[in-house]
Amino acid sequence: PPVLRAEGLVKTYRGEGAPAHAVRGVDLVVRPGEFVAITGPSGAGKSTLLHLLGGLQRPDSGRIWLDGARVDGHSEARWAVLRRRRIGVVFQFFNLVSNLTVADNIELPALLAGSNARQARAERHRLLTELGLEGKERSMPGELSGGEQQRVALARALVNHPGLLLADEPTGSLDSKGTREVMRLLSDFHQRGQAILLVTHDHRLASAADRVISFFDGRVADDAVLGAKTGGG
Ligand code: ADP
Ligand code: ADP
Repeated sequence: PPVLRAEGLVKTYRGEGAPAHAVRGVDLVVRPGEFVAITGPSGAGKSTLLHLLGGLQRPDSGRIWLDGARVDGHSEARWAVLRRRRIGVVFQFFNLVSNLTVADNIELPALLAGSNARQARAERHRLLTELGLEGKERSMPGELSGGEQQRVALARALVNHPGLLLADEPTGSLDSKGTREVMRLLSDFHQRGQAILLVTHDHRLASAADRVISFFDGRVADDAVLGAKTGGG
């Protein structure tokens, strides 16, 4: 089955003033190992869509399947388990635990998911090496550059080998060097079979994906499979 399927997702924010129709009926399929980018202007509803797909917000209506199983009715607690084991999530701001070391930030979700201390350490070591962060184990997040913090956030998101990585503007607070690093790492993980759903307002970054979904005014405006990539990809 697809790693992710959604049908008829709708989300409207209602408060004072006019309601914001953020997501207006979205169908979406992500297959195992696929790298899909969702791009579109600010306010199009991309972030809301990603939050719905990760269980961080609830749709008003619509259905969501992960690996073929319905999950939209899940409780907060069951979504939290899914986000630990089956979906990794990274955001624009890295959301690392500021008073834990880099090593502890990465090992914590592994331990919470039932790995023993030795397994968690081994996974953390493997990821930090893959991400070019050897020697940063004992650093605190605040001592690292933005690009390094986002790499730690990626390690934390991937430590339990989730079938899908959700990335919401993961380069949005990085300089051009950090942006290149993080995009290269996303491509590397994708080459090794990681399915990724990337939200970005920057259509140049979206071209790293296999498929680009253009989002506009809460709806899919276009869904294009990219051809053979150029530029050494
Ligand atoms: P994007 O990620 O494409 O910039 P968002 O999903 O952040 O789009 O926003 C889509 C629309 O929903 C916008 O009109 C935005 O102002 C509105 N919106 C987003 N979050 C909230 C919220 N928590 N409360 C009210 N309106 C919101
Ligand atoms: P992004 O598009 O990168 O998600 P935003 O600036 O649209 O960033 O949103 C930042 C935060 O503010 C999000 O938590 C979003 O839900 C919330 N938000 C966005 N628009 C509104 C709004 N009109 N009213 C209330 N909260 C909003």
